[in-house]
Amino acid sequence: MKRIVYALLFIFSLFLLTSCTLEKAPFSEASSNNQKLQVVVSFNAMRELAEAIGGNKIEIKTIIPDGVEPHDFEPKASDVTALSTASVFIINGFGMEQSWAEKAIKTAGNKNLLFVIASNGATPIYDTAASAFWNSQSQRHDIDPHIWLSLQGAKWEAKNIHNAFIKADPANKAYYDANYDAFSAKIDYLYTDYKTKFDQSPSKVFVTGHAAFSYMARDFGLQQNSLENVFASGEPSARRLKELADFCLNHHISTIFVEDMESPKISQTLAHEVGANVEGIYTLESSNGSKTYLQTQKENLEKIYQSLSTGHL
Ligand SMILES: [Zn+2]
Repeated sequence: MKRIVYALLFIFSLFLLTSCTLEKAPFSEASSNNQKLQVVVSFNAMRELAEAIGGNKIEIKTIIPDGVEPHDFEPKASDVTALSTASVFIINGFGMEQSWAEKAIKTAGNKNLLFVIASNGATPIYDTAASAFWNSQSQRHDIDPHIWLSLQGAKWEAKNIHNAFIKADPANKAYYDANYDAFSAKIDYLYTDYKTKFDQSPSKVFVTGHAAFSYMARDFGLQQNSLENVFASGEPSARRLKELADFCLNHHISTIFVEDMESPKISQTLAHEVGANVEGIYTLESSNGSKTYLQTQKENLEKIYQSLSTGHL
């Protein structure tokens, strides 16, 4: 009798194992992560903010792969599949992803999906300079989307993400609250540190390749000037390049910043022309290795601060 019971138990456990494998969701290691909140994000910066708040209670899938230009993106069928089983979908908004994200949500048809536009309610910067300054054909949007590069903006976006996680997973509210409080305290500390530094800095002007740092400049009373427009799609004209070279010389610019996904060629030409160095800077549109949002931003701020100090000597 016992043998029969054991045999039946063995067959039953085999059946369980098989059914687990068959029901594997598009998220990796789904069977061991069934308890985790399934989160889809549009691109790396949203991943970093979601990780800061969600920690080990969430599992994230990023739609736009590292190294892919996020201002011009079309999702694949597998991205829509991920949305069909996820609990939360986070995008930046401000015109960055809406053109494809809303279509993908419709196709996914997941009634339980909580859609979060992280920039919701924040104050946008309008890209009024683009048409006048850059030789660009692209007039798709008029809002600069790069709010995550502002510490204040990232805190705002983290708050919206935090609210969504609590709604989707109320059992872990205390955990998400603690992570948000810790993140927000670190943001405030970094902001105060660099606000003091930038306030004392004699120069307030920095030059980048892709015009991604307007929100950061707004945080600290700085001014950004750039080779390419906010959508990384404009090639500077010869006249624009000459204007920018004059601008660099007039403002004693010592550093031309070049972003992680930009070709450094034009930046190098400009730097050579005005006797400046070329220095890397991160837009967080792709990941900066294993560095967190705060680590990368501290690096960015320190590099800009150093460039302002040396620029005026
Ligand atoms: Zn960008």
